[in-house]
Amino acid sequence: MITGVHRNAKLVINKQALYHNINSESSRLDAGTELFMVVKADGYGHGAVQVAKVAKAAGATGFCVAILDEALELREAGLMEPILVLGVIRPKDALIAATYNISTTLPSNEWLQATVAELAHHPDASKLNVHIALDTGMGRIGFQTVASMKTALALAASNEQLINIEGVFTHFSTADSNQIEATNYFHTQVGRFNQFMAALPTRPRYVHVSNSATSLWHQECNGNMIRFGVAGYGLNPSGTEVKPPYELQPALSLETEVVHCKLVPAGRSIGYGATYTTTKDEWIATLPIGYADGYVRALHDFHVLVDGQFCPIVGRICMDQFMIKLPKQVGIGTKVTLIGKNGQNEISLESIAEKCGTIHYEVACLFQNRLPRVYI
Ligand SMILES: *Cc1c(COP(=O)(O)O)cnc(C)c1O
Repeated sequence: MITGVHRNAKLVINKQALYHNINSESSRLDAGTELFMVVKADGYGHGAVQVAKVAKAAGATGFCVAILDEALELREAGLMEPILVLGVIRPKDALIAATYNISTTLPSNEWLQATVAELAHHPDASKLNVHIALDTGMGRIGFQTVASMKTALALAASNEQLINIEGVFTHFSTADSNQIEATNYFHTQVGRFNQFMAALPTRPRYVHVSNSATSLWHQECNGNMIRFGVAGYGLNPSGTEVKPPYELQPALSLETEVVHCKLVPAGRSIGYGATYTTTKDEWIATLPIGYADGYVRALHDFHVLVDGQFCPIVGRICMDQFMIKLPKQVGIGTKVTLIGKNGQNEISLESIAEKCGTIHYEVACLFQNRLPRVYI
């Protein structure tokens, strides 16, 4: 997708905020515990390579991504730190991962057999580093029983010229809540993880269980590496439920400018479906951004900030434009904040997510490359 560099709309990414969040966490960790910054989905919409570089300066010693191509993007940008692909790669791509020294997730014995068979065709290749995924209750990928994990260990051991067990990990599904059911489930998962660990003959290089929520609120479980994602971007993994141990500074703002402003007489309608009709003379401005950029239609009755004041959106959000109602005329080029601070007021990603009935993770990922990103 082409990036709109000749347009009046941009994502502004504050590198100091990223640095603050990541460094606050990495300085809190026990000695010997590493922080891998999770930069999947183009760094949660913030730009993977740029985020990875800031993370490295802030104390991250490795990165996690979801798919192999995201790992290759980091390698192409010259980042040589350890990278773990958290999703399941195709066994036929194992040679690529091994060649670029990209660690992958070992989700099942089926996957391991197929991957060993693939790598056996390339005996001179580097070994593939894998992290055993343990399904302790997330129900997504990984081994559910100690016996199946042992089968994998045996298969890996008999192919040690091809496969190196570099890590073991699990993923918690309820670490972001302090409700009693969530806490109980968290401890059930911890218990199962400990049973797996007791059955491992040797501890691999990396033992890790923590996403942001686990590291923020269950630090004692961390192992020797954490997979730090959403909180690094300044977003509270629990939404507003649980307070973080330090201030999280949101790194992303979304800004645009008024491209058209007019006085509309009473009784005229605005936008597709004519869903809004003026009741008196009203100042209506048009903004050059829409749902194709990730500013979704569910926001049709939300608001934006102009000169520090909340102004309502009127009419439906179009693909590339939408309209707002102003208290008075403003000049073409007036700054409009869709996410972030403007004067005394602020619109958080969290409030947008709430409005859309989703979570801030999803809102951030939806911003398209059509929006240029500016790093300050
Ligand atoms: C995405 C992901 C993370 C990061 O989670 P956050 O909540 O963003 O910190 C960690 N581990 C795994 C396995 C993931 O898929």
